[in-house]
Amino acid sequence: MGTPEATAGRPASGTPTRTSGGAVLLDGKAVAARVRAEVAARAAAFAQARGRRPGLAVVQVGNDAASSVYVRNKRRASHEAGIESFAHDLPASTSEAHLLELVGTLNGDPRVDGILVQLPLPRGVDANRVMDAVDPAKDVDGFHPVNTGLLAQKRPRLRPCTPFGVIRLAQEYGITLTGQRATVVGASNIVGRPMALELLLARATVTVCHTGTRDLRAEVERADVVVAAVGQPDFIPGTWIKPGAAVFDVGINRSADGRLVGDVAFESAAQRAGWITPVPGGLGPMTIAMLLSNAVDAACQRAGI
Ligand code: NAD
Repeated sequence: MGTPEATAGRPASGTPTRTSGGAVLLDGKAVAARVRAEVAARAAAFAQARGRRPGLAVVQVGNDAASSVYVRNKRRASHEAGIESFAHDLPASTSEAHLLELVGTLNGDPRVDGILVQLPLPRGVDANRVMDAVDPAKDVDGFHPVNTGLLAQKRPRLRPCTPFGVIRLAQEYGITLTGQRATVVGASNIVGRPMALELLLARATVTVCHTGTRDLRAEVERADVVVAAVGQPDFIPGTWIKPGAAVFDVGINRSADGRLVGDVAFESAAQRAGWITPVPGGLGPMTIAMLLSNAVDAACQRAGI
């Protein structure tokens, strides 16, 4: 099997940008802007039909610096898309019982269509118990076992935002996933595992790598599609990338010199890849856009639209 074929070859917005190595740069920022415009139109139609805007509750516990940036961006993006944002900022000392009580209240609030609990949660709070308490119909992160299970059974409902963002980005650039060998590096519940399910749904032949993998290099070298979600700067050397492969780098890391970098060594990988996401500007903006899309989907599904 060769590398992914481009059926369209370029984003709907026009000529693709190429890296100096010739790879097409998968511009997550531009595609995310397009997704957000679609979301805004759907949110406006919902508001017209229902007499209220779709509502998204964003819960943050404590003041982890990175989480605060993510939460601020999500709230701003919601507002811009015409989604009503309900902010719940709780102190780090918040007990699990109190958090469960808040989730219960949000589950019962008809103005709230989506509930997002920003991770990580402070020590002493069982994140699984909190996520499991969210009404699956309002689970805009797609982390609830019901939504993961539906994705596993080929009937996705609310889909985890980052993996869904990879699929949407591939679609926008006309990258065919069906029949391709896809290797996912990382097997977390929030990225690697649902990513594998998404790729399977797209009919790729999927390999998932993790700390137990014996020969990671060989698994990456044979891949037509690589998704990296490890959390270590420049973890995958460019020399491992199959010529012409599509590379989706989910990692967001701080390099030794303070820059934001992905899990893939970008410069060398871009010499070989057919398509590659930048970090930043790749899956970060796509993740937020898919979250907003999920919020409007949840609102419409709950309203029976
Ligand atoms: P995680 O720590 O939960 O999981 C990392 C995975 O990598 C694990 O499954 C582990 O088995 C695997 N791994 C670690 N070392 C390995 C090795 N030596 N060989 C093979 N596999 C190995 O991380 P996560 O939550 O999945 O996040 C991964 C990265 O993605 C992080 O950099 C995170 O910041 C980033 N992230 C980005 C977005 C986004 O919006 N772009 C969203 C979520 C996470």
